[in-house]
Amino acid sequence: MKLAVVGTGYVGLVSGVCFAEWGHQVICVDNDASKIDMLKKGQIPIYEPGLKELMDKNLQRLVFTTSIEEATDKSDIIFIAVGTPPRPNGEADLSAVETVAATVARRMKSYKLVVEKSTVPVQTGDRVKQTMAVNNVNKVEFDVASNPEFLREGTAIEDSLKPDRVVFGTDSVRAKKMLLELYSPLGCPIVATDIQSSELIKHASNSFLAMKISFINAVANVCEKSGANVEQVAEGMGLDRRIGRSFLNAGIGFGGFCFPKDLQAFIRISEKLGYDFKLLKAVEEINEDQKKLFVKKIEELVWNISGKTIGILGLAFKPNTDDMRFAPSIDIIEALQKDGAKIKAYDPVSMDRARQVLKDVQYCDNPYDVAQDADCLVIVTEWDEFKKLDLVRIKSLLKVPAIADGRNIFDPDKMKELGFIYQGIGR
Ligand code: NAD
Repeated sequence: MKLAVVGTGYVGLVSGVCFAEWGHQVICVDNDASKIDMLKKGQIPIYEPGLKELMDKNLQRLVFTTSIEEATDKSDIIFIAVGTPPRPNGEADLSAVETVAATVARRMKSYKLVVEKSTVPVQTGDRVKQTMAVNNVNKVEFDVASNPEFLREGTAIEDSLKPDRVVFGTDSVRAKKMLLELYSPLGCPIVATDIQSSELIKHASNSFLAMKISFINAVANVCEKSGANVEQVAEGMGLDRRIGRSFLNAGIGFGGFCFPKDLQAFIRISEKLGYDFKLLKAVEEINEDQKKLFVKKIEELVWNISGKTIGILGLAFKPNTDDMRFAPSIDIIEALQKDGAKIKAYDPVSMDRARQVLKDVQYCDNPYDVAQDADCLVIVTEWDEFKKLDLVRIKSLLKVPAIADGRNIFDPDKMKELGFIYQGIGR
């Protein structure tokens, strides 16, 4: 099949490369000329394990360009995978989706199927159809479909090549046939729906996962007050197949480019449609509180925070990605700085991106440099590298042997034995 993917970010580039891996010709488009230049040189603008190797393997089926027009001329299906960032009021900003739809429609000279892969609020498909109809100067046939993406940064390749399920929505028999042809070889369940349901499946799924995280964080707070251990509680709950163990890790709350913004967008679109989604508002509030509670814990550990040096381990919103968008580290570090703390930090891959958002931070080459003379060490992202630290060495480097473990990566008993003042979450 001849495919185009507009947007070469975490979703677009991975999708494009995976489509090529399945044998299709793929044109990857981005309006960021510097990204396209890098890709043409075989460089990857993001950190995603396995992506470079898979791209190198399929280069002969991949074309990179800044021209949506070129992509429209040369492909039958055009996936829109541009960003849909939040507006200040939480609504999704869909201007890039509109621009792409309009550009494709003005250019198309033969039938095209335009597929929303970006996460968009329910009923966006109608807007895309309308925009395309208005700009369809050559009066050609076209269809619109929704095909939300469920990949996770850090495991994006595997998630794309072996998804739990593929969801798409369309009201066109022709489009359904094309998407079935594309995805059937994967051998996973395919859920084919109308466009609205498909759009909603994405927002509902992400909000549900966010809800699980806020739920266990709320439980963690009760555990702390009652002497229970949230990890044991999560294990006991998670073995119930109706509940499941995943997304029941208590911590400092969720971040990243998906959960916070999709949750907000789902709340806003529900409101617009006349439904007050109170449950999701609580999920958001618990998540914000969780970061504030953690800052309070750090400040209690070091007593007077002003002038103290806090060492931060992990900046990315989760391990195995360099993505700093809506990372909890940002709120936590800024709150500590506001109260007068000096910050040292290390992350295995996200420090270049962190430098653009977090100022007045001393970025270090490794975790031991961070620990050197710090008044407290804070675990923010649960990279494997931190789980294997030489804790005896860390203790000898710290000015005060205090650790605030926002991801529960260490065993409290072992930490006590080693002589640390240790504070985890919910245990
Ligand atoms: P991203 O910011 O990494 O990538 C978006 C790309 O689109 C950028 O490279 C940008 O330059 C390009 N772009 C923006 N406007 C454009 C335009 N008018 N023409 C051409 N290119 C344009 O974002 P992402 O993380 O890949 O997310 C893309 C969408 O997928 C979002 O809606 C997001 O919610 C959704 N999503 C993301 C993930 C994830 O884990 N990152 C997972 C599932 C779904």
